Amino acid sequence: MFQPGARPTIAVTSSRNIVVAGAGIGGLAAALALAARGFRVSVFEQAPRPEETGAGIQLAPNATRILRDLGVADRLKPAVVVPEALVVRSGASGRGSSACI
Ligand SMILES: Cc1cc2nc3c(=O)[nH]c(=O)nc-3n(C[C@H](O)[C@H](O)[C@H](O)COP(=O)(O)OP(=O)(O)OC[C@H]3O[C@@H](n4cnc5c(N)ncnc54)[C@H](O)[C@@H]3O)c2cc1C
Repeated sequence: MFQPGARPTIAVTSSRNIVVAGAGIGGLAAALALAARGFRVSVFEQAPRPEETGAGIQLAPNATRILRDLGVADRLKPAVVVPEALVVRSGASGRGSSACI
């Protein structure tokens, strides 16, 4: 989770500093991946506080594997909902196909 002021516990092994603009899922994932490789990373977010937009972030298995590799999957578990099924519909015809997950 986004915690303003939180300090990473990952060892810094590179003299290079990296600035990430934006603490969305993309910026935070990039920051964690770079920090895990020893870079000193600073994340700057323009918004005064994190806010929810939409119904939630839907992540495919390839993305959740990355969260696991980044070591944050267990911390996110309390906020996770696993869908029972997925329905994809054509906006024009309304026809759809569904798949059980
Ligand atoms: C209204 C809406 C509803 C949505 N609903 C869903 C949904 O239900 N499910 C779903 O899976 N996806 C949804 N999405 C899409 C989802 O939010 C995005 O795909 C995802 O958040 C993109 O992540 P990101 O990290 O790339 O960008 P963002 O989450 O947009 O993060 C970018 C961050 O960078 C910050 N920033 C921008 N410029 C600067 C700057 N110059 N300096 C510092 N900070 C900066 C912004 O404030 C923001 O916090 C929705 C999007 C919107 C707009």
